[in-house]
Amino acid sequence: MSHKYTGGCDHVHTYSDNDPVDNHTCHCSVCKSVTGQDTTHVVFFKHDDVVVDHPEQLNRQPFNANNPDGPLELCTCKSCGTPIFLDDKLNRIRAIVPNLMGYSPENLPATYHAFYDPSTGVPRPDDGRPVYDGLRPDFVWPSPA
Ligand SMILES: [Zn+2]
Ligand SMILES: [Zn+2]
Repeated sequence: MSHKYTGGCDHVHTYSDNDPVDNHTCHCSVCKSVTGQDTTHVVFFKHDDVVVDHPEQLNRQPFNANNPDGPLELCTCKSCGTPIFLDDKLNRIRAIVPNLMGYSPENLPATYHAFYDPSTGVPRPDDGRPVYDGLRPDFVWPSPA
């Protein structure tokens, strides 16, 4: 059976047959510290669109170590430690970082820059995509699943 978007590791597989609800290049400090990348390509799917075959194989930890009560949990494989997705405790979204979570970034191009902060000294992106200091202003969180 083939699915539109697939990822995961050797032990835990995920897929979505629906398109994401948001797709951005994230400049925030939390993504930077978690991924070690200057910017992080982040894709939001509706929560129930991301299907996982072995949820019992996931370790959960706060995405933002400085805000352990925040809504996002980083789910990693118990066997190999691969990050699988960010799970929203409010069941609105699951967030995928394609290049770290087994997805093809080419199939999921980011449409804008999010959480850009000029005070970091990083030059403003000039690749033609919109640049915002948060998520895009017209982004609406999906209703909890
Ligand atoms: Zn971020
Ligand atoms: Zn694994």
